Amino acid sequence: MSTDVLAVGAHPDDVELGCGGTLASLASAGYGVAIVHLTAGEAGTRGTAETRRSEAEAAAAVIGASLHWLDFGDGGLRRGDREEDELIALLRQLTPQVVLSPPPRDRHPDHERAHALTKDACFYAGVGARGQGRPHRPQAVWSYMIHHPFEPRFIVDVTRAWDAKCRAMDAYASQLYNSKKPVEGPPTRVSSPGFRASVEGRARHYGELVGAEFGEPFFGEIPPGVTASSLLGGPA
Ligand SMILES: [Zn+2]
Repeated sequence: MSTDVLAVGAHPDDVELGCGGTLASLASAGYGVAIVHLTAGEAGTRGTAETRRSEAEAAAAVIGASLHWLDFGDGGLRRGDREEDELIALLRQLTPQVVLSPPPRDRHPDHERAHALTKDACFYAGVGARGQGRPHRPQAVWSYMIHHPFEPRFIVDVTRAWDAKCRAMDAYASQLYNSKKPVEGPPTRVSSPGFRASVEGRARHYGELVGAEFGEPFFGEIPPGVTASSLLGGPA
């Protein structure tokens, strides 16, 4: 299946937390969805790289996405020419129309580095003189929210995909709080019940702003274009 949307994450679970509902919605509507994790999360406090790989595979299966891996180094994510070339090669291979990236400003520096790398690679992937293969530039790059809040450019109603998003988060049993499957290990911010509750609370907050039960907010440098009829509830 061809790829319509590619979601990029610095660490396994970033994509699922930030835009898992949007991806699951698109996959269930028949669009081609892909995820690439830029690292295996090998520097994480909990869970080995192997564990996180199998968790990521299970989460991608729940969402209905194909899964790809790059190895740019967890905890000091590299974003040099070599890494940019590897991401450009993947963009040219998958030819997504839309790319979803980590946000430009966030608590973890790897997220900010992943944002800059993704934005640059999406532009350069369309430059024929750069690298190998046929140029392809995605039409848009939107950032999903992980930790730091931002003023959204738009909010996606993910109410119907909320169950899939929760099951994708449950797949990360070594990372995220799961009432059914407690995991031993040092406590971390994201492994606390409070963090899991905050993910739901935030989705309820942004959903409520657009008249939905659950919503996922997105940011971009410029707003998306809409059709006049979409102001009246028609197709965007
Ligand atoms: Zn992360």
